Amino acid sequence: MVPSPQKAVADHTAAPVQKPAKGAAPPAPLPLGLSVEAPAGGDDLFAADPLRACATLDALVPVIDACRKCQLGHSRLHSVPGEGDPHAGMVVVGEAPGATEDETGRPFVGRAGQLLNDILKAISLKREDVFICNVLKCRPPENRDPEPLEVAACSPYLHRQLELLGPRVILAMGRPAAHALLGSNASLNELRGKVHRYRGIPTIVTYHPAALLRNPHWKRPTWDDVRIARRIYDGERA
Ligand code: URA
Repeated sequence: MVPSPQKAVADHTAAPVQKPAKGAAPPAPLPLGLSVEAPAGGDDLFAADPLRACATLDALVPVIDACRKCQLGHSRLHSVPGEGDPHAGMVVVGEAPGATEDETGRPFVGRAGQLLNDILKAISLKREDVFICNVLKCRPPENRDPEPLEVAACSPYLHRQLELLGPRVILAMGRPAAHALLGSNASLNELRGKVHRYRGIPTIVTYHPAALLRNPHWKRPTWDDVRIARRIYDGERA
């Protein structure tokens, strides 16, 4: 799933800066939100952080696949570690694999994935340009919501992926992704439209594509949010 080789720890400071069109009004300053740092004792609740030994995204794949820290490792067909450009400037974080993802081992390949492709297209990106992953790497049965213990067991993989990727911007899609990254219980409406910081990395929260399939009225604010993400991707500092 994950192309190799990858750099061990990425640098997200080098950014291609896009100049505003001639005569265009300067964009409004980026609105700031929460800031979350890494826990001093490391991420893994279950061991002395063996994920440190995984120096690449590829190295994480078999570790994720062998994981049985929660029940989902027993009920799923395939683990879904994530895929995309290991040097991507943007990482998209969703909630958990659904049925198509479970069958294929790839993230966002069902209906929500089609819409994610369109969302990325709206900011002139293709899915190959970004890295796409989820909070949970295994499908919850019947697509039920992730349980807190499942998130606690699985999120060290996400933290390590983000550490290795070191993107310029994270796009957290849906409340579970926002909560896992920012540790906030705030509503999605409170979290969206601002630039948060996850361990120093600018993080934008927006609606999950599956929510947009149910409620197309949320497309407009989602497009607004991803345009903020694009501004940071292009090098604007928040
Ligand atoms: N929804 C998600 O959150 N992730 C996927 O990979 C697919 C659907």
